[in-house]
Amino acid sequence: MPIKIVCSNCGFVLYSKSELIAPEEIVKKFGTRCPRCLAKLVIKPNRVVVISKKS
Ligand SMILES: [Zn+2]
Repeated sequence: MPIKIVCSNCGFVLYSKSELIAPEEIVKKFGTRCPRCLAKLVIKPNRVVVISKKS
């Protein structure tokens, strides 16, 4: 089953592959912000969610 990590603010797909990856790697790759909406990314199990919206 593919792993899919999306921004909960805008739905941007940050990661979508079958291989397991540490959520920390996703955050490192994107620099802690969603590349589309620039919302801050926060790690939850198997997910990246947003706590603060672009101001
Ligand atoms: Zn976003």
